[in-house]
Amino acid sequence: MIIDDRYYDIIVIGSGAGGGTLAGALSHQGKSVLLLERGGAMALEDQNVADADLFQKDRYHPLDERWFGPDGDPIAPQTTYALGGNTKIWGAVLERMREKDFTALPMQEGISPAWPFDYNELSPYYDAAETLFRVHGKAKVDPTEPKRSKEYDYYPCELEPFLEPLRAGLKRQGCHPYDLPLSWSEDPNDPSGDTQLFGLDKADTSNLVIRSHARVVHLHVNPNGREVRGVEAEVNGDHWMFSSDIVVLAAGAINTPAILLRSSSAQHPNGLGNGSNQVGRNLMNLQLTSILQLASQLSNGRYARSLGINDYYWGDKNVSFPLGHIQAAGGVLQDALFAESPPVLSLVSRLLPNFGLEQLAARSVAWWAMTEVLPDPENRITLQNNHIHINYLHNNREAHDRLVYRWLDTIKSVEADPLTEVVRAAPIYPRGEAPISVVGFACGTCRMGMDPAMSVVDPYGKCHDLENLYIADNSVFPSCPSIGPGLTTIALALRMAKTLTTEKVEK
Ligand SMILES: Cc1cc2nc3c(=O)[nH]c(=O)nc-3n(C[C@H](O)[C@H](O)[C@H](O)COP(=O)(O)OP(=O)(O)OC[C@H]3O[C@@H](n4cnc5c(N)ncnc54)[C@H](O)[C@@H]3O)c2cc1C
Repeated sequence: MIIDDRYYDIIVIGSGAGGGTLAGALSHQGKSVLLLERGGAMALEDQNVADADLFQKDRYHPLDERWFGPDGDPIAPQTTYALGGNTKIWGAVLERMREKDFTALPMQEGISPAWPFDYNELSPYYDAAETLFRVHGKAKVDPTEPKRSKEYDYYPCELEPFLEPLRAGLKRQGCHPYDLPLSWSEDPNDPSGDTQLFGLDKADTSNLVIRSHARVVHLHVNPNGREVRGVEAEVNGDHWMFSSDIVVLAAGAINTPAILLRSSSAQHPNGLGNGSNQVGRNLMNLQLTSILQLASQLSNGRYARSLGINDYYWGDKNVSFPLGHIQAAGGVLQDALFAESPPVLSLVSRLLPNFGLEQLAARSVAWWAMTEVLPDPENRITLQNNHIHINYLHNNREAHDRLVYRWLDTIKSVEADPLTEVVRAAPIYPRGEAPISVVGFACGTCRMGMDPAMSVVDPYGKCHDLENLYIADNSVFPSCPSIGPGLTTIALALRMAKTLTTEKVEK
C-alpha cells in the first residue's frame, strides 16, 4: 500500500454530475480538494454522442465489468467511467423537478415520498446550475413549469427545420410543446455541456488535484467507527491510501452503495453508513419507452433532443394520477434505447424494410415516454462475491402504459391532420423499453431523509452514521421524477459546496 503524503480538506469520489460539479465549486471556495475518478479523459471523437454511433455499443460500456441481473445473468452496464461520468454521453436535457415532485404525491400504485425540503430550498441552486451549465431554454411555455426567479440566460438553439411544423401540429392537437432546456458549450467540436467542461475545466487548479484511473475500493474508519480516515484506491495496479477531513462519495447510484457495502468492517458489519439497512435499497430507474414515428420529410438524422411535452405529466382526461413526460429524443442513431434493444431493432427494420440505419434515422422521429417509479426496498443492489447484483422490477406500470398509449393516440391524430405534412402514418410504431443495463437515470439507493432509521443521509447529504462522510450523486433521491435527474443532482452539489464551506451542518 502506498500512503499519499498530502492531506486534503475534502476528497470527492467520482466526477459525474454530482462529483464533478462539487469538486469544481469547492475549488473556488478555497478548499484543497482531491478528486478520485476511476475513468480517464474521454477521446473527443467519443464525447460528442451526436457524431458517434451508439449502435457501436461497446464504446460506452466498461468492457471489463459485468453486473448481474435479477435472474443471475450477467449484464454489460451502460454506464460511463470517465472524467465527467455519464454526463459525457447524456442528452444534456437539464430540467427542474416540479414543486409537487418534492411533496408526497399519490401515484397510481402508492405514494411517491416527499423530499425533506421543498422546491424553494433548491430554487436558487437550480438558477446557479442553469447558469453554470449554460442551459438554453424558454420559460412560460410549459404549463407544468415550476416557479422561476428569472428567464433562462440563453435562448434555445434552432431546431431541425422539420420539427417546427411538428411543434405546430402538436399544438393543433391541444398539446403545449416546449423547447427542452439543453446544456450547450461554446465549442463546436464538443457542443453539448458536461461536468468536465463546466465543473472541472473551470475549477481553480491551485486547489484541485485530479487523479484519474483511480478506482476507490474501500473507505477505512477510525477506531470508534465514526469518521472515515482513509480512502483506498487502485491506481494503475497499485493500492494507494488518501486522507482528508471530509470524504464525499459521488460514484453514481450503483457504485456509491457498492463502495459502502464493500467498506464493511467490525464497526460497520453491514456496510459503512448502513445502520438503517437502507444502503443499496429503493433503487429507482424511471420507466423509459422509446417510440419511433415515420417522418415524411428528410432530416440529417443526427440532431439533439428538442421538444418536451408535459400535458400528461399529472394525469389525463381519464385519470388524476401522474403519467409522465414525453420528449423528442433526437436522431435515432443517438438513441441509447434502440441501441440497447436488439429486439426493437428488428421491429425498426420492419418499418422501413431494406433501409440501413442511417436512412431510417433520416426518415423518423424518436420519442421518449418517461414515467416515475416508486421506491421499493426489494429493488436493490447487493454484493455477491464482490460482484454487483441488481434485483429490480418496475412498478407503476399501468401509468406508464397509459402514457405510451396516450402518446400513440396523440401522434396518430397529428398524422391525421392534413395541415401536418412532416410525419406520416405507419403500419407499426416500433417501440422498446429500456433494458436493465440502461442505468443512467438510476437513483434512490442511499436516500436522504430526517429519520436515521429509514434513510442513509440527512437533508444535507451527510451520512447519518458518520461525522465526515457525505453523498453527492443520484443515490440520495427519495423519489424519482419523470424528468431527468441531472439538473437536480447538479443543484444539490452546488448546495453541498455551500454548506461544506460556509455553514455548520445541523444534524
Ligand atoms: C445515454 C444517457 C443519456 C442521459 N441523458 C440525460 C439527460 O438528457 N438529462 C438528464 O438529466 N440525465 C440524463 N442522463 C442521466 C445522467 O447522466 C445521470 O443521471 C447523471 O450523470 C448521474 O450523476 P451522478 O453524479 O449520480 O453519477 P455519474 O454521472 O454516473 O458519475 C459517477 C462517476 O463516478 C465514477 N466512479 C464510479 N465508481 C467509482 C469508483 N469506485 N472510484 C472512483 N470513481 C468511480 C464514474 O466513473 C463516474 O465518473 C443520461 C444518462 C445516459 C447514460
